Amino acid sequence: MSKIYGQSMVINDEMKDILSETTPNTQEDLSNSRPIWSLKLGYSCNNDCIFCAVADLRSTQDRTTNEVKHELDLAIANNSWKVTFIGGEPTIRPDIIEVIEYASEIGFEEIKISSNGRKLGDKNFAEQVFNAGSPVMWISVHAHKAEIGDYLSQRPGSFDETIAGIKNILDHDQHLSTNTIILKQNYRFLPEIVDFLADLGVSNARLGFVTAECNAYRNFYLVCPDMREVSPFVCNALDVGKERGLRMTVEAYPFCFIRGHEDCIPNLPYIESRETFRNITADELRRKIRQKGPQCKNCRYNDVCDGIDKKYLEFIPSMLYELQPIY
Ligand code: SF4
Repeated sequence: MSKIYGQSMVINDEMKDILSETTPNTQEDLSNSRPIWSLKLGYSCNNDCIFCAVADLRSTQDRTTNEVKHELDLAIANNSWKVTFIGGEPTIRPDIIEVIEYASEIGFEEIKISSNGRKLGDKNFAEQVFNAGSPVMWISVHAHKAEIGDYLSQRPGSFDETIAGIKNILDHDQHLSTNTIILKQNYRFLPEIVDFLADLGVSNARLGFVTAECNAYRNFYLVCPDMREVSPFVCNALDVGKERGLRMTVEAYPFCFIRGHEDCIPNLPYIESRETFRNITADELRRKIRQKGPQCKNCRYNDVCDGIDKKYLEFIPSMLYELQPIY
């Protein structure tokens, strides 16, 4: 399987900061007002997704074990109760078990890991991860069939490994939620993907629209679908999920495109991010990389809606005029 993209793209410092701080923030418990800490461990990954939004940062040095521990100490000193490890792919770090154990030892009440789940297909490794601190696993699943999943990841066999990882997580009664990025290759199958996840035993699923950075920016016309065409499939997928008893959420996609499914709008919590040694709220971050129209100020969801990715609007600026406030 060959790569279908070519030259690299220059990312300026501000965009580096923004990408560093982009944080999975779905389905959080808001009953605890203490900050949630998002910790980017590095950009190394065992996949090479054709839509990867951090691909151009891959050569950046991953954080050392000591740096990670220092950040965790800082988070605890700032009264944080929960940390989310994001990458790249956190599970390929040689020190991942040590890092989870350390977070658990110094008092984090919840440890969450954003992962493609491939390494968790190995039962021994999965058990080590679960025993280290019983983390909540947030697993990316972008397909219901290997030929689509492997094409998207550019790694033959990766889909089966991810599914094996999910089965191991569920077999060990570990907390699990899934993340499905909406792409040109999968949007028509979103209802089938949600049905597939339900069959596996998944109970929390998030759908999020692709972010047009790095590979997704270069491959825009290959991977980024028309948001309007996607809408009926997203709504259908949400219906399927709800019928199957899943807790469904949608992010990075205008809520006015999923009218009637406002119950799938997530509560977005306050998140501390220390990647660049400055704090930024999830709300501030969204404002930097997303755009809404003047009409949005009258919308009841203006405070929580992501609007549209600014880079997406470079290619399809007319999409901004499709936004219609919900009153
Ligand atoms: S009108 Fe604007 S704020 Fe309201 S749901 Fe649509 S994009 Fe979001």
